[in-house]
Amino acid sequence: MIQPLLVANWKMNKTVVEAEEFANALNQEQRPDGRDIVVCGPFTTLATLRGVLAHDIGVGAQTMHQAEKGAFTGEISASMLLELGCSYVIIGHSERRQYFGETDTTVHEKILTALRYGLIPIVCVGELLAQRQNNETEQVVTTQVQAALAGLTAEQITELVIAYEPIWAIGTGLAATPEQAQTVHALIRKLTSPSTPILYGGSVTPDNIKSLMTQPDINGGLIGGASLDVQKFLQIVNY
Ligand code: PEP
Repeated sequence: MIQPLLVANWKMNKTVVEAEEFANALNQEQRPDGRDIVVCGPFTTLATLRGVLAHDIGVGAQTMHQAEKGAFTGEISASMLLELGCSYVIIGHSERRQYFGETDTTVHEKILTALRYGLIPIVCVGELLAQRQNNETEQVVTTQVQAALAGLTAEQITELVIAYEPIWAIGTGLAATPEQAQTVHALIRKLTSPSTPILYGGSVTPDNIKSLMTQPDINGGLIGGASLDVQKFLQIVNY
């Protein structure tokens, strides 16, 4: 049985002051037992999040560089994230692939580095609308997952999280149906392991989380827009 995992992805939102307010508010509310909660804020908020959030709530970054250190102006390394108290890092989000040139190769390299440092990678995969319409979803997702996990040991595959995020569902208000998501999650399950958490992401809201979580291979959610409001995020966490 995989414990449900609910991950907030704030993207480029919230200042340090706003992050502190959110963390204090989240701490004060009743949280259900048996659920893992993680907040992935911008780099500038991570130290504050770790300092303020209750210890049972994890902190994660939204990306990192694959190299250990060096001449990569503006980048952040795994050891820097560990020093800030991060335990998770999102890797290969579709916005990183679309706007910042991330490829299956860099995603793979970043996963290896994150695992070497003991960070839990949350590896994002998902198809474009045109690919779904051309019945290419299975092939696209299979290629992305196989490239991401190439050469990993069976044990390493249990030490990471996959997030299925259909690109047409991100930030659009058009979430995949539970059945559409389950079909792809079942495919990812076959490509990973029975104990790899597989999250669904793409317009998750307090209204649709419960039905998504009834599916056997949906182990949690990666939540963008709805995670910016602490009350909405709490409703999702308490689905
Ligand atoms: C995301 O970007 O990871 C995401 C799922 O965004 P949203 O929930 O806003 O669709």
